[in-house]
Amino acid sequence: MALRLYNTMSSRIEEFRPLRDQEVRMYACGPTVYDYGHIGNFRTFVAVDLLRRFFRQSGYSVRYVMNITDVDDKIIRNAAQAGISVQQFTAKYETAFAEDSAMINIEPPKFVRATENIPQMAAFVSKLVEKGIAYRADDGSYYFRIAKFPAYGKLSKKDFHGMLDGARVDVDEYDKDSARDFALWKAPKPGEASWDTAIGPGRPGWHLECSVMSMQELGDSFDLHAGGEDLIFPHHENEIAQSESLTGQPLAHFWFHARFLLVEGEKMSKSLGNFFTLRDLVLKGHKPSSIRYLLASVPYRNQLNFTFDGLKQAAVSVERLRNFRLRLSAGNLPEGSTATMQSLAGETIARMRAALEDDLNTAQAQGAIFEMVRQANAAFDAGEIRKDDAPPLLDALKKFDEIFAVVDDDDGPKMKQVSDWARAEGREKDITQELRAALESGALSEAEIEKKVEGMRAARSERDFKASDALRAELATAGVIVEIGKDGIRWRRK
Ligand code: AMP
Ligand code: ZN
Repeated sequence: MALRLYNTMSSRIEEFRPLRDQEVRMYACGPTVYDYGHIGNFRTFVAVDLLRRFFRQSGYSVRYVMNITDVDDKIIRNAAQAGISVQQFTAKYETAFAEDSAMINIEPPKFVRATENIPQMAAFVSKLVEKGIAYRADDGSYYFRIAKFPAYGKLSKKDFHGMLDGARVDVDEYDKDSARDFALWKAPKPGEASWDTAIGPGRPGWHLECSVMSMQELGDSFDLHAGGEDLIFPHHENEIAQSESLTGQPLAHFWFHARFLLVEGEKMSKSLGNFFTLRDLVLKGHKPSSIRYLLASVPYRNQLNFTFDGLKQAAVSVERLRNFRLRLSAGNLPEGSTATMQSLAGETIARMRAALEDDLNTAQAQGAIFEMVRQANAAFDAGEIRKDDAPPLLDALKKFDEIFAVVDDDDGPKMKQVSDWARAEGREKDITQELRAALESGALSEAEIEKKVEGMRAARSERDFKASDALRAELATAGVIVEIGKDGIRWRRK
């Protein structure tokens, strides 16, 4: 079977085949670095990361490019408010974006910055002017004449016939009803960053950035272009108009859009008080792995309703996977293998693949691994797992984690980084008791843990289960999981 993906352009699920043999060239519209990224942004970026990882697992090499929009209306406004230069302002949030992405195990794409590609953007506008598709307004701004691109609206399925030719719009984002000739290049305004270029002074419009940088990095026509569903119109529609009116070729063969996330059933907004960055969640004591797991748990085209109950549940799920790996890796299993476990591992790998090939059905892939864990744990308890069953079961878990990336435990140091950042930013008051407790639990030294575990062993050998349980509870509050098996007591940090 091959991967089947929904293509916004055709409004259908299609079989995905890269244009070049074994290489997938993909582009995602990256962040506008005017603030910390929120969980809605990361919902989309995690979805694209899962896709990229699945391409790789399917044997493709992947070229994945993401732009950093470091000049736009919002940036200019916020930098002026903060009283610092656009460069200082964007550098801070670009770094934060890279740190946050790393925190939830998003593998870095190749980043390209708008401000480092300005001459190329001016040259692109020149070509559009030569073709009579773009025109210069009196103030020195340039606009795309959408009447010259009859296919305008093909991605968003909007009918723009009867629209007023020559009516113009300057802002980067606008609603569906006001499709007009859009700004490719904006003439300088007092207090705004501007560049001297071959087409005159000014700055690029947001849509132009993505057309120029995606084509420069990936060619005139590449495999897949991704973003959140809000980008379908006007952003992606405009990218298509700009690029395709020049090349006559499809800019991208697949258009991949992630559905917007809700928080507790509502649209996320600062005024509703339900607006969260990743750092906000960690400050509340949640682990980065739980956040990633939750963001990945709903297939990208379904609406993910982010809730704190869901986040807690995600933590339990991740823990179950980590414990399972620990249990299987601990060894001390009887020699041999069982047909049931061998086939369970193989079937699980096949089920996960089939789920992901079905338009990236992450929920089903997670379901498959939990079914395996449930059955294998039951077999474990019944003493029906043998030594040679462990490698294939661990292999299935590894394949799962090549995509989901939650099993390795590095939550502690990442949470520590967020708490250090909060201190440095003068936001110490935002560090909750839950985060402090999580950090302290990570601070118990190995020797101290061993001492308590030794105490448990001694108590149990004297059948003093009360004393053993008390020690176990102490360890649990310190974030240490203790497992008592036939072959003794093991522990690990949460
Ligand atoms: P921005 O920084 O606002 O340009 O957004 C970066 C990415 O996050 C874009 O792909 C947006 O479509 C996406 N995005 C923004 N809000 C949400 C949301 N609530 N749910 C999912 N994706 C979102
Ligand atoms: Zn874009």
